[in-house]
Amino acid sequence: MRIGQRLGLGFGIILLLMVGTTVAVFLSLNRIGKVLKMVTIHSVNKKTFDVLKENIEHWLMTTEYIIKERNLSKLDYHAILEAQIVKELQEIDWSVYGEAIAALRIEIDQTFTNIEKLANTVQINIRLGNAMPPDTKDMDNAIDEFEAEASTITDALTTLDEMVNTIYNQTLAFSEKNEKNSRLSIYIAVPAVVIFSTIYAFFITGGITKPLRMLGAATKRIAEGTYDAKLDVKSSVEIEELFVSFKEMSIKLEDSYNKLEELSITDKLTNLYNRRYFDEALEREVLRARRLQHALSLLFIDIDKFKHFNDTYGHPEGDKVLQRLGQIIKERARNGVDVACRYGGEEFVVLLPEIAGRGAIAVATRMLRDFGNTKFFIQPNDETVQKTISIGIAELGLSTDVKALLANADSAMYEAKKSGGNTVCLHHKA
Ligand code: GH3
Ligand code: MG
Ligand code: MG
Repeated sequence: MRIGQRLGLGFGIILLLMVGTTVAVFLSLNRIGKVLKMVTIHSVNKKTFDVLKENIEHWLMTTEYIIKERNLSKLDYHAILEAQIVKELQEIDWSVYGEAIAALRIEIDQTFTNIEKLANTVQINIRLGNAMPPDTKDMDNAIDEFEAEASTITDALTTLDEMVNTIYNQTLAFSEKNEKNSRLSIYIAVPAVVIFSTIYAFFITGGITKPLRMLGAATKRIAEGTYDAKLDVKSSVEIEELFVSFKEMSIKLEDSYNKLEELSITDKLTNLYNRRYFDEALEREVLRARRLQHALSLLFIDIDKFKHFNDTYGHPEGDKVLQRLGQIIKERARNGVDVACRYGGEEFVVLLPEIAGRGAIAVATRMLRDFGNTKFFIQPNDETVQKTISIGIAELGLSTDVKALLANADSAMYEAKKSGGNTVCLHHKA
């Protein structure tokens, strides 16, 4: 997956979670608000209802007193209670209740009106009775009727009281449960967003910084000369593409470095090692021979009267001779063991590890013979020429150091020249 896609996906999820949380919180708050409103209505209703109940009870007692005692002294109080009851019946918000309560309320209203009418009739009778005594039978009927209506209204009130209380308690319980649920959903949603965002940030950061660290380490290794990129991890597409390019680059870099290194130690004309390489190889081979107590011989090769050849046939023909000599030396040297180099001009050196004087003489003699037998055809002159070389050999002795080994081989070569050239000469220890 691409980093962009990963980022998009992650932020998309975070955004969804945040929107989800916000909506959940908003809905919860909205619900809590509605429930609180209901709780308030029910609580006010309940209080008003309690007062209403008490007022109706007092009103019933006053009415009973008026009717049974035929006494109108409490008429004012009776009227006040009546006004309050009417007001309280209006104040209660009946719309929040169901049909059962609506029916009860109508029943109470009805009964209340009946008793009021009864009380009015009785009152008129009492007032008339001051002048003309009322019919005892009528009054007895009124008392019976009042008692029936009073018991109806008392029963209705008791039922209503129970219902209002039950609904109030239910609303309270629902409110508490709702609040608890809302709190719980917020407690879950908010930490979920935080935890997801943190984990996501951790992974996305790791997904970028880890490959960067790996690239950094690979670059450091290249700087130190190790071209193994070691970048084989699964990652996002961009990073994997970067890794592939980096690996290609490191392979090319290694190739260029190897070619360059080869060039820096190779003689261009003969393809043998150059003097720079020889100097290092000489030190190394001497140390190795000492450590392993092996023999080590050094050949010093020089073309006889080469200046004359160059002067006669020209430099390009001289170069061909040098190239051929290079080939012969390479053919006679052991691949990967002997170190054959062009030391400079028309001088060559060969290091022969694990080979002592006699063996070295044999190798040198083969080179001398091969070269001596080579015929050089000089085209412009239409002439065939043969050349010879002189080879001096020195062996690594207990007291010979690197410098002495080279000097000994060189002086043995001069000995060979002195004896007329085309000769192999072994340096004799003094
Ligand atoms: P000697 O038998 O004593 O070795 O005589 P010489 O002429 O070979 O010795 P000298 O050292 O005087 O001459 C070396 C010559 O090698 C000089 C130069 O013309 C020739 N030479 C050196 N380097 C090159 C080269 O790269 N190409 C060619 N064609 N000739 C070279
Ligand atoms: Mg020379
Ligand atoms: Mg020479």
